[in-house]
Amino acid sequence: MASDHIRADMVDASEFSTLSQKYNVSGVPKTIINGSQFIEGTQPIDRLFLEILKVVHPEEFEKLKSEVRAARGGRRVRNPNPEHIYEVAIVGGGPAAMSAGVYAARKELDTLMIAQEIGGQVNYTASIDNYLGLPGIGGKELTEMFREHVERYPIAQALGDEVVSIRRDEEHYVVTLKKGVGYRAHSVIYCSGKEYRRLGIPREEQFIGRGIAFCATCDAPLYKDRRVAVVGGGNSAFTAARDLVNFASEIYLIHRRDEFTADPALIRQVSKAGNVKILTNRVVRDILGQEKFEGIRIRPSGDGPGEDLKVDGMFLEIGLIPNSDPVREMVQLNEKGEVRINHRNETNLPGFFAAGDVTDVFEKQICIAVGDGAKAALAAHEYLLEHQLTQSKVKVGDAWE
Ligand SMILES: Cc1cc2nc3c(=O)[nH]c(=O)nc-3n(C[C@H](O)[C@H](O)[C@H](O)COP(=O)(O)OP(=O)(O)OC[C@H]3O[C@@H](n4cnc5c(N)ncnc54)[C@H](O)[C@@H]3O)c2cc1C
Repeated sequence: MASDHIRADMVDASEFSTLSQKYNVSGVPKTIINGSQFIEGTQPIDRLFLEILKVVHPEEFEKLKSEVRAARGGRRVRNPNPEHIYEVAIVGGGPAAMSAGVYAARKELDTLMIAQEIGGQVNYTASIDNYLGLPGIGGKELTEMFREHVERYPIAQALGDEVVSIRRDEEHYVVTLKKGVGYRAHSVIYCSGKEYRRLGIPREEQFIGRGIAFCATCDAPLYKDRRVAVVGGGNSAFTAARDLVNFASEIYLIHRRDEFTADPALIRQVSKAGNVKILTNRVVRDILGQEKFEGIRIRPSGDGPGEDLKVDGMFLEIGLIPNSDPVREMVQLNEKGEVRINHRNETNLPGFFAAGDVTDVFEKQICIAVGDGAKAALAAHEYLLEHQLTQSKVKVGDAWE
């Protein structure tokens, strides 16, 4: 591979059996990029370069992909402008936000979408079986389909930064990002979803993605023949353990109580697996290792001596929490921290709508987030028309075009 930027070593798998085992080589060629990502089989050189770029510079990779889409004529997204006052600002880049984006654009609303990353939780789902018409679709594939659909419309996008606060001044909502930029809009559709709950132990953030994982469906193959811990006692924890059974050599399922909330059939299935050890009434107190994740220190839930568990990874399956912090002071939340909405996706604040997993909507699913994102955009359109805050010529009821 002739490039000054890429160093490559070629290894004969039969002569280096330790390396072959480490990287689970069962066929050649197998390309391992920076020790973690794998490509099986021969690849055209341009595809190989793109895969390397994706691993090493994900932002550059995304930029390049956007440019390709723009060159093909399918991308009409605009750059965001902090001086401009948008008619609607959509916060989030998951299914709820993307659906709201399409509906807002089709109502000719002057729209800004602000998101940390496109895809949201769908990115962490290996295969989705319950999205109508697309059984078995991969999460990343569905994200790409959603993204390409949104990008057909002339909405502004501010991606890669986090909203830290939203407040209302006399005339607008002001959405402030971590890097300090502020955007103004007459209305907001808040779709910031949920994220995985953390343990709150020292150095946890440092090891996320480097020993601490959240999605066994996505990452189980990386733990082939290795020892892992799964923390939690609900369906997510038992599903993660079940996903790992065929990969990991030993799985420790650690739960702080002695009773589980997972389905009994799932508990039975996991308990029967020969490589799963269930440790109840235990909590994780610490991470072992300085630079490298080497295991965890666990303790009895009440009091008692600590015990070190040498594991190569730990999956946290202790629930999801709504990303409602940026609006906590402004909008009504329920006891779980979810934004309260009515059937029109309105919150207690005029012009402030919400959709998807961050809300108190019954059940959290992709199709529900998509439906609610659409409803929120239709309600926002009606609000903006009623208050003469939009240039849109589309009237209420023109939704079927
Ligand atoms: C492992 C897993 C498997 C699942 N499997 C399925 C399944 O098979 N079928 C199904 O229907 N559902 C499944 N779900 C649930 C489904 O993914 C969610 O219901 C859905 O993604 C919710 O969409 P959302 O847009 O409301 O939120 P999310 O998908 O959580 O998206 C939130 C978005 O907001 C952005 N964001 C968050 N905070 C900020 C901030 N402060 N500033 C800027 N941007 C922010 C994020 O970057 C993200 O783009 C699964 C979830 C998980 C975790």
